[in-house]
Amino acid sequence: KKPTIGVLYICTGKYDIYWQQFYESSERFFCPGLEKHYYIFTDSTTIKSSERITVIYQQRLGWPYDTLMRFHLFVRERHLYEHHDFLFFLNANMQFVRKIRPSQILPSDKEKLVAVIHPYYYESPVGAPFESNQQSLAYADPAKARHYVQGCLNGGITADYLHMSEVLAKRIDDDQKNGVIAVWHDESHLNAYLVTHPEYKALDAGYAKPEGRAGFPFKERVVILNKNNQGGLAFLRS
Ligand code: UDP
Repeated sequence: KKPTIGVLYICTGKYDIYWQQFYESSERFFCPGLEKHYYIFTDSTTIKSSERITVIYQQRLGWPYDTLMRFHLFVRERHLYEHHDFLFFLNANMQFVRKIRPSQILPSDKEKLVAVIHPYYYESPVGAPFESNQQSLAYADPAKARHYVQGCLNGGITADYLHMSEVLAKRIDDDQKNGVIAVWHDESHLNAYLVTHPEYKALDAGYAKPEGRAGFPFKERVVILNKNNQGGLAFLRS
């Protein structure tokens, strides 16, 4: 039986403007032969559930909670997608631009999780913005990391991805109790987790290419759309 993929997607507030192009590009390029089902956490009234799409009502939490609380959402609704073989999360403003085969993006035998190397720190994790505050549970030593990954595209075997989500949701709660928010939010927690779970598939930065970036040494497969073309961050988060 062919594996199936649950695609997790968050678009609260104005981020729903990205959904349609994301969906069309994913259907066209993301493992086209495999069955995918989309789970959208949103407060949009225009995105509707259908055979392949499950809309989950999610109110806007405000910055940075819309992104920081992602693991809590994934755990809360796990009953909806636990039956899939793999789960993948992508940021709202991601767009697939080239065909990606299952062997390129799904974890192989020894791998459990998948993450994308950050397009600004692909040469070395040294100097990347890991959380350096030891009061935070996202603290990580760059010297122990394989890579610095970006929070915009990650996934893995369903049980492993949900387990990570549980662990990170708890750590984020504990940080909050101590009055700490990790420097890059969910991305910092993801990086800390991968330091102690190094057997993940590392996608090259061509899976997170900043739109319009020149002189980029990777074949572009997924583009991060420039939010300045949509009125800018202040507008999107307003
Ligand atoms: N997000 C959202 N609504 C918001 C802010 C963020 O749905 O008001 C989600 C969305 O999936 C977005 C992700 O959180 O792609 C990360 O936020 P953002 O893109 O603003 O962060 P950046 O990529 O700039 O760090």
